[in-house]
Amino acid sequence: MVNQKALKEISIICETHNAHLVAVTKNRTLEEIKELYDLGYTVFAENRVQDLLEKKEILANDIEWHLIGHLQRNKVKYIVPFVKLIHSIDSISLTKEINKEAFKIDKTIDCLLQFHIAQEESKFGIKTENLDNFMQEYKQLKLSNIKIRGIMGMASFTENQNLIKKEFKQLKDIFDKLKNQYFQQEDFNILSMGMSGDYKIALEYGSTLVRVGSALFK
Ligand SMILES: *Cc1c(COP(=O)(O)O)cnc(C)c1O
Repeated sequence: MVNQKALKEISIICETHNAHLVAVTKNRTLEEIKELYDLGYTVFAENRVQDLLEKKEILANDIEWHLIGHLQRNKVKYIVPFVKLIHSIDSISLTKEINKEAFKIDKTIDCLLQFHIAQEESKFGIKTENLDNFMQEYKQLKLSNIKIRGIMGMASFTENQNLIKKEFKQLKDIFDKLKNQYFQQEDFNILSMGMSGDYKIALEYGSTLVRVGSALFK
């Protein structure tokens, strides 16, 4: 069930920071998602392509779907026709694949570069030390059907608030560097960071979009 009190509180905090709330609906029932929809929320995120496709098929047409999980190249073609924002670009080959599929249907896809800043080894993302190499390669490709709108990252899963702050600061610095050096356009303006456990800290550090799942439900 939707926790309406929490939903309202989180929405207000986001508004205060001029940030967007994206509701993460992974592992949630269709009833729960419909409940959110009926409360006026229409921007949802999934981390698996299969789940995204199944839910999109059944739920309302005006929902904006984001993909926040790792994306395999062979699944790109299934989401390109409708996905609103891909948060999880972490390789040049994936970038090329998205561009290729978007070109085929004459679309431009909004995407974020995902950076790996957390201490856990298992998380996907571009490593900070590879940022310049990635960008050199990216620039040369001159892709016309992909638009990089900003970056995404996850902090370590920890109780250590100082570590979380340090990691969000690092993400904000990466965002600023990319904006200054590579993406001077007005619409490079999405810093996707913050989840149920750490969205308040993320907002303090300049997040413009939080991805909150479990805290919205009870
Ligand atoms: C699951 C997930 C979230 C939301 O996590 P909660 O702790 O449930 O808020 C956010 N971002 C990504 C990439 C996720 O996989």
